Amino acid sequence: MSELPGIVVTGASGRMGQMLIRTVAASEACRLVGATVREGHDWIGRDVGEAMGGAALGVTVTDDALEAFSHAQAVIDFTSPAATVEFAGLAAQARCVHVIGTTGMGEDDLARIAAAARHATIIRAGNMSLGVNLLMKLTRMVASALDADYDIEIVEAHHNRKVDAPSGTALMLGEAAADGRGMRLADVRDAARDGITGARKRGDIGFSAIRGGDIIGEHDVIFAGEGERLVLRHVASDRSLFAKGAVKAALWGQGKKPGEYDMLDVLGL
Ligand code: NAP
Repeated sequence: MSELPGIVVTGASGRMGQMLIRTVAASEACRLVGATVREGHDWIGRDVGEAMGGAALGVTVTDDALEAFSHAQAVIDFTSPAATVEFAGLAAQARCVHVIGTTGMGEDDLARIAAAARHATIIRAGNMSLGVNLLMKLTRMVASALDADYDIEIVEAHHNRKVDAPSGTALMLGEAAADGRGMRLADVRDAARDGITGARKRGDIGFSAIRGGDIIGEHDVIFAGEGERLVLRHVASDRSLFAKGAVKAALWGQGKKPGEYDMLDVLGL
């Protein structure tokens, strides 16, 4: 019997990193073979399960990403844009599938990810949940059915430590809505309102971000017309949702041709 695919989790000490370690270790479809952290981190050299405050998992935390990747079939990466861009090059070198959940990437970062995807299989999604990916499909559908008499507003809420806004998911929903209307989001995005902003511009897609407490992730897509309002809502109540989606993506990516894929590909939507 062939061995189960080996997975490395980067940013192992992070909120998603720890959830991914637990999810991969508990999965019967893959094996945890590596856990990486930033240079100088005090978890280096320790068993990752023990460092997380639980039972040993038989995997020692390292800051040598390339070495860790070279023993794996996939890397699951929910870190920061700077780290993810570097990991994309290393994963391509090690011939690993690279699953990217990191959000907040700029155009330069995306160009470097696209360059790495010429040689590697990359699956990148600002949200790995089935529900949000279905919400994207629904948003595109509703946006194409309703004209600009319906103002589109995207409202998202996250915990108070999130560093980027609007969330990657909100932007994906905005892209889906713009696409449904045959527009480019960059041309209709209204992301920051403060002070005397003037009346709302017809056709714009507005974004609002709530930050507080331990909210895992909530997204509303509002279509506000005269006399009626349609609201599509997704609420994430458990972070393991994203981790399970990421593991699914890592397994789906095995044997796929180099290129950039997303969760719609993985879920066959
Ligand atoms: P977090 O708790 O801050 O964790 C980030 C981890 O990445 C930390 O362990 C951090 O290490 C590490 N890291 C950052 N920069 C690094 C670098 N240059 N080199 C090595 N390691 C580095 O954040 P989180 O809540 O887990 O979220 C992480 C990312 O995933 C965010 O972009 C978030 O928006 C995204 N996310 C995506 C989804 C999805 O479904 N796609 C779902 C949830 C979250 P230090 O602590 O040492 O800096």
